[in-house]
Amino acid sequence: MTGFRHGAVFAALLLSACGERALEPDAAIVCDPCDSWNQPQDPFRVHGNTWYVGTDGLSSVLIESDDGLILVDGGLPQSAALIDANIRALGFDPRDIKAILVSHVHYDHVGGISALQRLSGANVFTSIAGSGPLAVGVLADDDPQYIAGSDEGHFPPVREVVAVEDGGVVSVGSLDVKAVYTPGHTPGSITWTWQSCALGQCYDVVYADSLSAVSAEGFRFTDSGVADKLIASAGIIADLDCDILLVPHPFFFGMDAKLERRDQGNPFINNLGCVLYAESSLDWVERRLEAERSH
Ligand SMILES: [Zn+2]
Repeated sequence: MTGFRHGAVFAALLLSACGERALEPDAAIVCDPCDSWNQPQDPFRVHGNTWYVGTDGLSSVLIESDDGLILVDGGLPQSAALIDANIRALGFDPRDIKAILVSHVHYDHVGGISALQRLSGANVFTSIAGSGPLAVGVLADDDPQYIAGSDEGHFPPVREVVAVEDGGVVSVGSLDVKAVYTPGHTPGSITWTWQSCALGQCYDVVYADSLSAVSAEGFRFTDSGVADKLIASAGIIADLDCDILLVPHPFFFGMDAKLERRDQGNPFINNLGCVLYAESSLDWVERRLEAERSH
């Protein structure tokens, strides 16, 4: 799916006619790791058109095109102000964001999107399975982390959501970002992939979605069939053209260690990144299935 709905474009024009827009934050979400995830992180260029603008523990990636910006993921509600500041610190204007892409609909990756959408006027894109939960701010009831009758996992809803099919493309200017469905961690998980070129060299960037087998108590990956989905999705990610791997939690692409090695070429370029990520995810699934067999 490409392009934008006319209504949203019209709304964006009206907003920009009113002049400077400020970020109105939504209420912070409280969770055990939230404060540590939300520590500030200096923004940096990953390669070419691709910039890291997230927090210390939650990825948010800015992609520059010849006609506007694309943002991938928005952290917690309290991350939005940090992401906004990081984008500005790089010299970009958040109001130039034309599209916001979602990896998976969990509060720690979509919590800040409502505020970032208000700021930018951008359309928000996710999978068909992810679009319903994103629009109401509640997990899908077939999400492994869903707890019936609980407020846990709720997040600010996103009003204008565009569903992208598997293999669909979101385009801004001449930049194409392709959606690859990788369900398992959530029913609507998407991996996004695009090209980054610099100095005559082009690389395939993969923002691979989480593949971790984490759930609410009592959920079984075996009986639900979600284990099979995770295994299939790991295979899909391992097979992608992949020179630069990014994922929703920067720990899983070794951000800090790589930043320390930046004087030795570009440590983010590694065409084994996706395969190694898939293998470590399969180990996690295997450990989880082992635990389920013994209970
Ligand atoms: Zn998650």
